[in-house]
Amino acid sequence: MSESKPLLRSLVPAAFAGVSAAAGQPRYRGDQLRHWVHGRGALAWDAMTNLPRAWRDDLAAAWDLAALEPEARQVSADGTRKFLFRLRDGHHVESVIIPMAHHATFCVSSQVGCAMACRFCATARGGLVRDLEPGEIIEQIQRLEADLVAVPMPGHGERSFNVVFMGMGEPLDAWDPLAAALAIMTDPDGLGMSKRRIQISTSGPREGLARLLAAAPGVGLTLSLGGADDESRRRLMPVPGRTPVAEAVDLAERYGRAAGRRVTVAWVLIEGRTDGLQQARTLARLLAGRPFKVNLIPMNPLHDDDLDRPARERTLAFQQVLTDAGVAAFIRESGGRDIDAACGQLRRRRTGA
Ligand code: SF4
Repeated sequence: MSESKPLLRSLVPAAFAGVSAAAGQPRYRGDQLRHWVHGRGALAWDAMTNLPRAWRDDLAAAWDLAALEPEARQVSADGTRKFLFRLRDGHHVESVIIPMAHHATFCVSSQVGCAMACRFCATARGGLVRDLEPGEIIEQIQRLEADLVAVPMPGHGERSFNVVFMGMGEPLDAWDPLAAALAIMTDPDGLGMSKRRIQISTSGPREGLARLLAAAPGVGLTLSLGGADDESRRRLMPVPGRTPVAEAVDLAERYGRAAGRRVTVAWVLIEGRTDGLQQARTLARLLAGRPFKVNLIPMNPLHDDDLDRPARERTLAFQQVLTDAGVAAFIRESGGRDIDAACGQLRRRRTGA
């Protein structure tokens, strides 16, 4: 581990007043500092030209400002942009910009690696290294926004973007940094994002869902299932599979009702594993009449095992079973198949993790 200082970007907006007070600076200096860090996404002390030079030097001696070193940027034929960032301790995380019809979606990581061991996921292969710090989450968003501003996506005249916690890691396992990052993202003195533009994607650990329910952050929720019954789910998602499907779905439904938002169920379609019509019928029975919609995601092959995506007709047949049962179901390509855009693939190729 390198000798890192505390990360200034990890502070929630209200804490900046304490930084200026501790230095004997007036309150408005703390506001200016916060505006540079959270409002403008400053990555260099020199950019903060309205702060006294001596205070900037003191701050630089006590705090780290930037935590991510861009190491790779790939652009897919479909416009998906994938980023690999090196952290201060030498580990790596990935983030992705996904072009949507009227905005961009930023897919960000919450952990280095992941403990959830899902069979279809490259991130799972290296296990969990650590949670990200709140500032490391925020800096991913700010760097992606800067990239979008520097190189606008065709047809996206504006700067609007959504954020999904669907990159590396199980966000509800990294609850404390996630909660702080959400606070910074949604605070008008932070990133000022609408809660409606934020989505947490979880594999559904019981403790994490219960924590989310209690905290009620009001952001969107996606529950990744990978099996409509406990046995098949455990085969593909051994750790999340310890929480029974029915319980995970119940908790997610309670959260969605409290937040006034329909919950998304993400279903990765894997040939011969999760694409059977019997599974589709079980899933339909589980969700029918409840406030869920389903995203069917044909898997991105990892090229080192026998798992692959089903043929298009099987995907459509699976969708039809859900639709016939009155469950809204959409087919979603994960995008960027030509650039290792599935979670964890780029990091694995570049670092061997
Ligand atoms: S799919 Fe998500 S929860 Fe499962 S191992 Fe990959 S990063 Fe972790």
